[in-house]
Amino acid sequence: MPSILTARWVLPITSPMINFGAIAIESERLVAIGSLPDVCSSFPEAPVNDLGEAVILPGFINIHTHLELTAFRGRLEGPHFQNWIAQLVRLKSERLTKDDLLASARLGCVETIKAGITTLADTSDADAPLPALIESGQRGVVFQECFGPKSEQAENSLDELMAKIEAHTEALARAGREAQSRLSLGISPHAPYSVSARLYQLAARFALDRKLDIAIHTAESADETKLMRDGSGAFGDSLRRREIDFSSAGSSTIRHFDRLGVLETAPLLIHCVTLDEEDLRLLAEHEARVAHCPKSNAKFGHGLAPLIELQKDGVRLGLGTDSVASNNSSDLIEEARFCSLLHRAAKKNATLCTAEEMLRLMTIEGARALKMEMEIGSLEVGKQADLIAIDLRNAENTPHYDPTTAIIFSCSARDVVLTMVAGRVLYKDHHVLSLDEQEVMRRIHTVSNKLAENG
Ligand SMILES: [Zn+2]
Repeated sequence: MPSILTARWVLPITSPMINFGAIAIESERLVAIGSLPDVCSSFPEAPVNDLGEAVILPGFINIHTHLELTAFRGRLEGPHFQNWIAQLVRLKSERLTKDDLLASARLGCVETIKAGITTLADTSDADAPLPALIESGQRGVVFQECFGPKSEQAENSLDELMAKIEAHTEALARAGREAQSRLSLGISPHAPYSVSARLYQLAARFALDRKLDIAIHTAESADETKLMRDGSGAFGDSLRRREIDFSSAGSSTIRHFDRLGVLETAPLLIHCVTLDEEDLRLLAEHEARVAHCPKSNAKFGHGLAPLIELQKDGVRLGLGTDSVASNNSSDLIEEARFCSLLHRAAKKNATLCTAEEMLRLMTIEGARALKMEMEIGSLEVGKQADLIAIDLRNAENTPHYDPTTAIIFSCSARDVVLTMVAGRVLYKDHHVLSLDEQEVMRRIHTVSNKLAENG
């Protein structure tokens, strides 16, 4: 029998807001949406759960995270981007075990569940995010990273990547059909300064052959642009110090990817801060998708991705928080607010990035960017019951005259009171139900103690 959820407002996103709205859920899907009397008359026997002065809306979709790096929140503040990466890689390999990274990923799941994030696209080179997401009950794409700046490493790196994808596929099969219905695999040849042209060609071919989605950190910084154009800058210096012969592309990262066949995969490109007009044209032409991570880009001083221009060109894009090692929060509401204010300030235009547009970016547009819009991203009959409720009774969001405005400009992740994925409640009454939050917190303290020492 279905169950009914009702609240002062229901925001389906792809259709108008419903005052005193309700939805009916049967197993993992939405079977009705409308006014409370209408939904109740369709299912007179169904139990009704009234959330009161709250908004029911689709779950948030965070299209770029690194769950395994959650333990690094606040650990690497201030250094230049290239040094930040080098320190992160060193600390992770020298101090943390596989179990530590799993604890870190579990903490990331707890944080994002509480923040109303029902779907995430996570990139990592560790094995931790997949088991953490199997346990957490969230939906997601697990992008397995690969590295290799030396051309001669390319075949080996691809072999390792293929073996990891094989292992993940088996782990997912062992986890059963429920997990398989929520989680999918992808690949992530990390970034143009850590992956050779040859490896990009092989990885793109592999993604097309295996029908795997592909995500890449792209056009993130001025140093990346310098490396691509003429081999100069911090990345060029670092590669030379390591005696790696990295021939520069002599072009932008996007044109480099175009020549290598990477754009043929219609990849999910993370960041895209340093785009020129030709790059924008190529992205639109190849139906590439963009993960916009404004806080991470701002924190590193990298700049601001051309969101408005990308939207004008019809490029599919969603919001990502990036890792908490560079954010330092997975609060997608805060990300959206920051995004809106930043682009309005940069363009000196208060009509840009409205609350409605931001909410679409966090839901249906994020779903489109992950090619999941047929299943998630809005409240529609037949779609997955991936939804959240946001309480509007708190002092910080009172009064409220319009729930969309309240969510984007007054609320925070802490106002989320319900998180549901495929009809399963993951968070309710301030308790995470799929993971043991106390145990996750206890475990993370031993991990953070390892990272706390200087050096
Ligand atoms: Zn990232």
